[in-house]
Amino acid sequence: VDHARCDRLLEMADDGEFDVAVPDYIPLHAYQEYGGYQVWDRVRGGDLDADTLIRTLSDAGLKGLGGAGFPAGRKWGFVRSYPGPRLMTVNGDEGEPGTFKDRHYLETDPHRMLEGTIIAAHAVEAERVYLYMRDEYPAVLEILRTEIAALEEAGIVEPGFIELRRGAGAYICGEESAMIESIEGKRGLPRHRPPYIAEVGLFGRPTLNHNVETLWWIRDIVENGPEWFAGQGKPGHPGLRSWSVSGRVKDPGVKLAPAGVTVRELIEDYCGGMKDGHVFKAYLPGGASGGILPASMDDIPLDFGDDLFRHGAFVGSHAVIILSEKDNTRDATLNLMKFFAHESCGQCTPCRSGTEKMVRLLSRSGPLDEEAIRDLEQVMRDASICGLGQAAPNPVNHLLTHFREDL
Ligand code: SF4
Repeated sequence: VDHARCDRLLEMADDGEFDVAVPDYIPLHAYQEYGGYQVWDRVRGGDLDADTLIRTLSDAGLKGLGGAGFPAGRKWGFVRSYPGPRLMTVNGDEGEPGTFKDRHYLETDPHRMLEGTIIAAHAVEAERVYLYMRDEYPAVLEILRTEIAALEEAGIVEPGFIELRRGAGAYICGEESAMIESIEGKRGLPRHRPPYIAEVGLFGRPTLNHNVETLWWIRDIVENGPEWFAGQGKPGHPGLRSWSVSGRVKDPGVKLAPAGVTVRELIEDYCGGMKDGHVFKAYLPGGASGGILPASMDDIPLDFGDDLFRHGAFVGSHAVIILSEKDNTRDATLNLMKFFAHESCGQCTPCRSGTEKMVRLLSRSGPLDEEAIRDLEQVMRDASICGLGQAAPNPVNHLLTHFREDL
């Protein structure tokens, strides 16, 4: 990242040389007119204590929607179990290719996330919140600066309680421990675990970390009750999810659909079908990391857990990318692997050298050296420190398993 250029652009924006295009969104006063911050008032007033909130989130089945799917209520319980002082971080880095739901929510209704944030911080008795935002979202940064100041002015939060931090364009800083290193002012390198950040997190303190969308749901779940949220999923898959759908569909975008929806339903019922002239061939269920599955596997319930995992795939941040028969999955896999090679933090050899070597193996013309690819795949999965290196071979595995016609 060219930091000097970023700073120069920000200075130019500050000097009024150009405007960051800020879309229409719901500001504080409008949010409050429609019941905003009333849940927070109940929490602050002692009407809703931490145990009640944790039970509510657990009954709703709310999971971490940044990609890991860890139950939100259980996470609050873990953080509270470690002695304070505690901190909270919000992961708004949203770097997974194909994911844009957090951006959508922050550019339309930012206070829903901010209210969820201060409720969560209160529940775990966090002294301070660090909001880590993707620098490639200038409108979101502008909105958050304005609305955090409005919250301080309205006396809803103490000045400085929420600190906005800009990321610097590194995909790996979406990994929570790398994000924490980055907030601490160091290179964003994932940490070895244990200890997990719930125990030893930001500045060595117990830390609650949540993705933007996870926090976005808290107000609605408390207001409408956990059954309301849980009941909107498919059987066995509680909850609603925000799907970032892109690729060869007629109407891509953020789609609110049940947990456990299938890709066929997303295409037909939510995206208006395939684009004219395109036949559904394959899909990425979870951005770059979640693998590539063939259209013949269009009836798998999309959710965290075994349905996808048994096929070596996962839903992650719910970024679904649709490919058609005009796309070559070997090219797509090579593209993904180049992305991983570029974004590897370089800390461990299986990932740093493995992604580069995989790019070389996939770039060769003619038949692939499948034995070498399979061997490398295993080493990367077994020996990489973090999820980037462990998941990077997923598309390669699927290419060799499901798309032999593209080899
Ligand atoms: Fe860095 Fe890759 Fe190792 Fe993760 S797996 S720590 S991204 S080198």
